[in-house]
Amino acid sequence: MAIATTNPYTGQIEKTFEPHSDEEVDRRIASAHAAFDTLRGTTFTQRAEWMRAGAQLMEDDIEHLARLITIEMGRPIKGARAEVLKSAKGMRYYADHAEEFLAPESLDDASAVSASAAGTRYDPIGIILAVMPWNYPLWQVLRFAAPALMAGNTGLLKHASNVPQAALYLDTLFERAGFPVGAFHTLLIPASGVERVLRDPRVKATTLTGSEPAGRSLASIAGSEVKHVVLELGGSDPFVVMPSADVEKAATVAVTARNQNNGQSCIAAKRFIVHADVYDEFTRLFADKVAALTVGDPLDEQTDVGPLATESGRDELAEQVADAVAKGATVLAGGSAPDRDGWFFAPTVLEAVTPDMRLYLEEAFGPVATVYRVSSREEALAIANGTTFGLSSAVWTNDAEEEDWFVRNLDAGAVFVNGMTASFPELPFGGVKDSGVGRELAAVGMREFCNLKTVWKA
Ligand code: NAP
Repeated sequence: MAIATTNPYTGQIEKTFEPHSDEEVDRRIASAHAAFDTLRGTTFTQRAEWMRAGAQLMEDDIEHLARLITIEMGRPIKGARAEVLKSAKGMRYYADHAEEFLAPESLDDASAVSASAAGTRYDPIGIILAVMPWNYPLWQVLRFAAPALMAGNTGLLKHASNVPQAALYLDTLFERAGFPVGAFHTLLIPASGVERVLRDPRVKATTLTGSEPAGRSLASIAGSEVKHVVLELGGSDPFVVMPSADVEKAATVAVTARNQNNGQSCIAAKRFIVHADVYDEFTRLFADKVAALTVGDPLDEQTDVGPLATESGRDELAEQVADAVAKGATVLAGGSAPDRDGWFFAPTVLEAVTPDMRLYLEEAFGPVATVYRVSSREEALAIANGTTFGLSSAVWTNDAEEEDWFVRNLDAGAVFVNGMTASFPELPFGGVKDSGVGRELAAVGMREFCNLKTVWKA
């Protein structure tokens, strides 16, 4: 894919970029390597000051950044502004908590290991390569970079090829905030250039947020180099509605859970699994609310759903829906790409989706919901757990015993009860099964890229 900004609302290429040469990539790796020596010697207090300055720069640049996100990947402008603020908040959170999360721990009874003192500490490991997607072009990167830099590591970013201007903004952000030159660099390289960087001995670990094939490819290279890897991959999250739920509220939240960011969120609810007792009520409310969404220019403050980020993504979604309809699925809202410029797909609700249809097992990365009627919680769980994904999940119930049963049995990295899945700097984030390995965010995410060093003293 060419490295270029192509406006999804118009389909027009706005700006193209030359990839970095091998020599430039090597210069940036060397710079990140040198910066690690400096950064690891700084205090948490110093790094926190720089991180807070970075957060302030982003807030100062909010209108510029929000417009950039909207033009590069089509996110409606209100959501784009919220992403900038969330990124700045996340940076401040790690500035405030890194020292506490990485504090050394002592064994209470050192004599049990024949020592006068023993325990563990978290040391930084060096350069971390981050391969990131376009769907939240700032937040995806910041949720890696803020904890990594606060731990004393340095970062190299290979961003998605369709968000080069966001990537270049991030290239200089940390340096502008006061971090040593080289603490964070963007590499403008195609996906095919990742292997060479990851095999460089100065690069110590890697993380990828994106599709399953990309994750598998990166992990196999990391495995052959014995380098640590964290993967945040796709999802097809279930949203279960049981009879005791507040059905009106569930239907309202379901609309946002599916259609936020034009339906292009890994943790979007994608499959709505509804008990027969409330199925007709939920489905009617849900389909009506989806049909009422305002679709249009993402720079317009009134727009709820804009175009998909790429033409290929829109075409793939259209093929998944056409396959389901051809095999007997019923369209309750939307169902096709409108006849207009830009890569739009109408917010869609489908029922009567069966296992022979692609949408039953595949991720729908756009505003397309499937609704399933079930007659028991066991049937709901079987459908919920019946894909290869396991990112997050939601269950709507006001029965405490039922809630506990779903929380224990849903095969996912998270369960949200009577709400929709979201990411928070305060909570770990990640999936099971083919949705990924490892965790981002919170103390546990920060420690992924640290050397947990055991210290024993005679
Ligand atoms: P993608 O094609 O995998 O791209 C993601 C990143 O990986 C881009 O920087 C891409 O570079 C790079 N890449 C692609 N193939 C690669 C390879 N073989 N080796 C190394 N790097 C490679 O992902 P997408 O389809 O654009 O993004 C949507 C997917 O991401 C969905 O499945 C979504 O669920 C998932 N996602 C997951 C999370 C999560 O936290 N779990 C969050 C957001 C998105 P190029 O752009 O240059 O190809």
